[in-house]
Amino acid sequence: MITIGILALQGAFAEHQTRLQNLRLKHKITAPLVKTPEDLQRCDALIIPGGESTTIALLARLSGLLEPLKEFIRVKPVWGTCAGAILLSQSVTNAKKDGQELLGGIDVDIARNGWGSQVESFEAPLDVNGLSDPSVPFTGIFIRAPVVLGLSTDAPIRIIARLPPHLLPEPIDDPNDPRTIVALRQGLHLLTTFHPELTQDDRFHDYFARHLCDCGGRRTLSCFATSTN
Ligand code: GLN
Repeated sequence: MITIGILALQGAFAEHQTRLQNLRLKHKITAPLVKTPEDLQRCDALIIPGGESTTIALLARLSGLLEPLKEFIRVKPVWGTCAGAILLSQSVTNAKKDGQELLGGIDVDIARNGWGSQVESFEAPLDVNGLSDPSVPFTGIFIRAPVVLGLSTDAPIRIIARLPPHLLPEPIDDPNDPRTIVALRQGLHLLTTFHPELTQDDRFHDYFARHLCDCGGRRTLSCFATSTN
């Protein structure tokens, strides 16, 4: 049994739990909510949901989770969606004026609310490298989504989905512009700037669980870091 915790301080944690519960028999996983350092200690991997990154960081500090989360990220796989992606990033622009505490783990610079405010939220069909049924696009739901501004590392980063240039909220000519990146992996971690948990499509959660479970529950971390799709 592999325990994939979901950080449940604020945001769309219940939706992530629903998606993972649909996969619990297939991948032999449990998906508990994480609200305390003790909850976190029981996890093999973690999802940090979307919501509001400043609030999640503040609540993590108040619950004594900030340092345990940073330590967890050093050794175990973490998937950050939207606000969670911001928290996993190395640096953020457009932070609230009181600043933004980050957990780090993925060497990208990211812009909070990079495509604009709530009314600029949008959906886009995405081709995602490594999902099951690759011919069926995955619906990316972008809500006050962050935008990857650049990669701040020479370490290998695997880009697994980009927004097609013609679907970008603002025109970008270069298809390799980092702002088109909406899903990527680095080392143990996965980052998506959109909300897979808000669809009825379990394939992204299947992708995460599959890469953890391939190792039979023993060396879950190296499995995710070295697998090829
Ligand atoms: N803009 C939000 C933030 O700063 C993230 C939005 C989301 O998670 N949907 O945290």
